Amino acid sequence: MQNPSPLDAEIIAVGSEMLTSQRLDTNSLFITDQLNSLGVEVRRKLVVGDDRAILTAAVKHALMHADLVIVTGGLGPTEDDLTRESVAHALGRELQFRQELSDAIEERFRRRGRKMAENNKKQAFLVDGAEVLPNPNGTAVGQWIEHEGKVVMMLPGPPGELKPMFANECLPRLTARLPAQFIRTRFYRVTGMTESDLDHLIAPVYSKYTNPTTTILASPFDIQIHLRARCATEEQAERLLAEVAGPMEELLGDRIFSRNGDSLEAVVGALLRERGATLAVAESCTGGMIAERITSVAGSSDYFAGGFVVYSNAMKEKALGIHPELIARHTAVSEEVARAMAQCAQLRAGATYAISTTGEAGPESATGVPVGTVYVGFAGPNDTAAGRKFNLPGDRARIRLFATQGALDYLRRQLLGI
Ligand code: AMP
Ligand code: MG
Repeated sequence: MQNPSPLDAEIIAVGSEMLTSQRLDTNSLFITDQLNSLGVEVRRKLVVGDDRAILTAAVKHALMHADLVIVTGGLGPTEDDLTRESVAHALGRELQFRQELSDAIEERFRRRGRKMAENNKKQAFLVDGAEVLPNPNGTAVGQWIEHEGKVVMMLPGPPGELKPMFANECLPRLTARLPAQFIRTRFYRVTGMTESDLDHLIAPVYSKYTNPTTTILASPFDIQIHLRARCATEEQAERLLAEVAGPMEELLGDRIFSRNGDSLEAVVGALLRERGATLAVAESCTGGMIAERITSVAGSSDYFAGGFVVYSNAMKEKALGIHPELIARHTAVSEEVARAMAQCAQLRAGATYAISTTGEAGPESATGVPVGTVYVGFAGPNDTAAGRKFNLPGDRARIRLFATQGALDYLRRQLLGI
């Protein structure tokens, strides 16, 4: 079922500083998030310098395609603040000086023991027919203009002024314009596959639908999938969402580690806590990265005993008690050593479970096994031990990150009996 956005939006961020390498437009990210929560899609966004002709043309163009045009920035008092006059020009309307706005700005200065500069009067000009969006956090008021069934908004550039104005003034006005609708969302975090493999797997399910929308955000070995259904009734939204989410969950199976946004280390922590279990780690190629992630979760002292960073063979022997013979026979990068590292860490820490990593992160291989080869070891109750080999792609940083993620996911799978 097609259910296009009830309103299409375009955002124009104004300011020459955002055309340099020094400043990024972040306002549009905030606005997009807010609009999406109403079911409004952003179809295009632009960054425009402080240029009257380009800005005027941009507003005119936006009005050809979008129902909502949101212009941020360029509402200051200085020469290069051109948004008011450009928008007025694009709409074919006049700017009117409003004494009450000028008085309010003057009063604002007075309260701070300062005198209003002459050029602040610029901020007291309103586009004909505009509604004032009050700005308790600055001198530039926003403006809301209804034009031929569309809306143009002018909002101040500083995020500390824009955000409250959008939330307090724009959202209620937008909600009133939107047809009644219900939004239902699902969220998954997935690990153990690349973004392209994941897309190959689930695209046949979601690509048939524009409602719900599917958004995929990928970082190394941790992919987030957002589904958002928007319908006239709650039941319809639930039904549409289930139509896509059901088959998607089936395909992804146990690669989904979170449905509420929790990180992998938080999920593993919760599993350990549920079991009243403790964990120790023995890390070679990840150099403490697993311990770092586990302890980044508040309350991890409930289940994390501690870790060993055993980089050299000598430390694997001395700190963990690995037999030199085992290393001599299999090399340090082997499943046998990974398993022994986990078992020794478990024993020395007196922990219920332990995991370990040993591998070649590159760029050179010390043991002769190919760069990217990582073994993860596991030790559990009743002398259970296991290991898994990973062949990881990328440079040293990526291999270490992947190994950390792989080890945490391996532990999750062991804890769940997958
Ligand atoms: P202006 O309203 O153009 O005078 O902008 C004032 C300040 O707001 C700028 O110097 C920026 O620091 C900030 N700003 C303007 N536009 C944006 C934007 N799109 N994203 C983030 N910050 C912005
Ligand atoms: Mg500016």
